[in-house]
Amino acid sequence: MTVLVPILGDQLSHALASLQGCAKNDTIVLMMEVAEEATHVRHHKAKIALIFSAMRHFAAELRADGWQVDYIGLDDPENSNSFTGEVIRAAQRHAPRLIRVVEPGDWRVEQAMLDWQTFTPCPVEILPDSRFLCSRDEFAGWAAGRKELRMEFFYREMRRRTGLLMDGKDPVGGKWNYDAENRSGPPPGLKGPPLPSFAPDGITAEVIDLVEAHFADHFGALDRFNWPVTAGEAELAASAFLAERLPTFGQWQDAMVRGQDFLFHAVLSPAINLGLLDPIDLCRRAEAEYRAGRAPLAAVEGFIRQLIGWREYIRGVYWLEMPGLAEDNFLEANRPLPDFYWTGQTDMACLADCVRTTRDNAYAHHIQRLMVLGNFALLAGIKPQEVADWFLVVYADAFDWVELPNVAGMALFADGGRLASKPYAASGAYIDRMSNYCGSCRYKVKLKTGPDACPFNSLYWHFVDRNAAKLSRNMRLANPYATWRRMDESKRAEYLASAEAFLQQLQPADAGWARQHQEERSPC
Ligand SMILES: Cc1cc2nc3c(=O)[nH]c(=O)nc-3n(C[C@H](O)[C@H](O)[C@H](O)COP(=O)(O)OP(=O)(O)OC[C@H]3O[C@@H](n4cnc5c(N)ncnc54)[C@H](O)[C@@H]3O)c2cc1C
Ligand code: SF4
Repeated sequence: MTVLVPILGDQLSHALASLQGCAKNDTIVLMMEVAEEATHVRHHKAKIALIFSAMRHFAAELRADGWQVDYIGLDDPENSNSFTGEVIRAAQRHAPRLIRVVEPGDWRVEQAMLDWQTFTPCPVEILPDSRFLCSRDEFAGWAAGRKELRMEFFYREMRRRTGLLMDGKDPVGGKWNYDAENRSGPPPGLKGPPLPSFAPDGITAEVIDLVEAHFADHFGALDRFNWPVTAGEAELAASAFLAERLPTFGQWQDAMVRGQDFLFHAVLSPAINLGLLDPIDLCRRAEAEYRAGRAPLAAVEGFIRQLIGWREYIRGVYWLEMPGLAEDNFLEANRPLPDFYWTGQTDMACLADCVRTTRDNAYAHHIQRLMVLGNFALLAGIKPQEVADWFLVVYADAFDWVELPNVAGMALFADGGRLASKPYAASGAYIDRMSNYCGSCRYKVKLKTGPDACPFNSLYWHFVDRNAAKLSRNMRLANPYATWRRMDESKRAEYLASAEAFLQQLQPADAGWARQHQEERSPC
């Protein structure tokens, strides 16, 4: 009797805990392409293609390495189209003595996994995901008893634990965080180097056809598909980033340039989240670039903070706050998602460009997500669950554990400040400072109210005013509230009327973009 090792689509690491200690001749690895996962929200076509292609390549690598792999394709006529259904069928086929699996990244999937034991007589062992630095239990221990959670303090612990950028007990350079040096707006003509290209091979081409056949009406384009689908390709992408973009990653980290979709960002999050790259190894290599004098400290510290700080912290918060986080709506925001999040058809040049890169690449960088797409949803009071569905659908790197806290906690303050100390709300002036969007926009960023004024300006004060009861005592918002109170009554009324007029003409999106209408739902 064998051990059955189910491996999910974002667990594509040869060092996965469930494979460790298993004998190749006594183990069946189970991999499953199931419609339930591809359609529980209607994921971007490129995201489905990426995951299925990476899974197929990983299965081939395992077989070449001597593992026995039972691979269930989407088109398999017997496919039950759910993880649970496939594990039951595989248990019947192989009669294993043990089912050994790594915990998933999604609360919903974990609930299903916890039920597997009721369907099979053999024990089901669920292992912690050792690809993270901080386990769920360790994070809960760190958070216990703290009045508020702050990434910065968690991050320092991770620096001490890993020794990354440490000189003994002290941070290299004497400071933990060099974020203040990483906020330059873009000079005219700022351009990032081209990304390495990964032309689709036979497996990827086949998967792209499959996605076009089954998910033709999902959001997004496939013609620019350029994601690394193996650990080898991901390594090429990582090496190119470390050599060509890391040195300027920090300086232009917050900059946005129309039509420049990647600038100096890593563009590695899909590969990291799927398990094709080890984030700690990346951090060590980034530190080596600093130690060798090839990249400045502010850039390297910024990159390492994103990975061992934000990424680990976000995951810890997800497991601490689920399932409540998915329902949180501290600011009682109930407006439906506007249709331009799907169509890109809006006169707001910043939003139009961010939706375009999202559609073309299944990617937008952090500041586009936070300060344009997220900021607009925050200011306009869009319902967090609709915003979260959109973010989960559209990005190649979006998995529930990382998408939801970023959207509900960081972008929308829907958790009331458990993740971040204040809402990331900003008017048009911020977007103008950090981008070249406003010059080509039909709205005027310097105008505060009226039909030609940048909508972010009046929406900002509408947000401040309508949330005063909940936010005005937040010390970090003392300045905006003092300014609002000092403002002339007629000026305030003008802002509010201008914002209301703008909000009135927003067209709500059809909810079917993100989730299939119930009556249409069918396996592919
Ligand atoms: C509203 C919103 C939604 C987001 N949704 C996702 C998501 O679904 N999946 C996802 O991986 N990231 C998400 N992020 C975080 C971040 O925007 C992306 O990780 C980043 O844009 C990926 O591009 P990159 O690889 O070029 O990252 P870089 O900017 O080059 O950063 C390097 C790496 O740091 C990590 N990282 C940076 N910031 C974060 C963060 N806040 N949370 C977790 N990891 C981080 C990523 O692994 C990333 O690859 C979201 C952020 C916001 C504000
Ligand atoms: S003017 Fe306003 S809406 Fe237009 S690009 Fe600038 S910030 Fe965006």
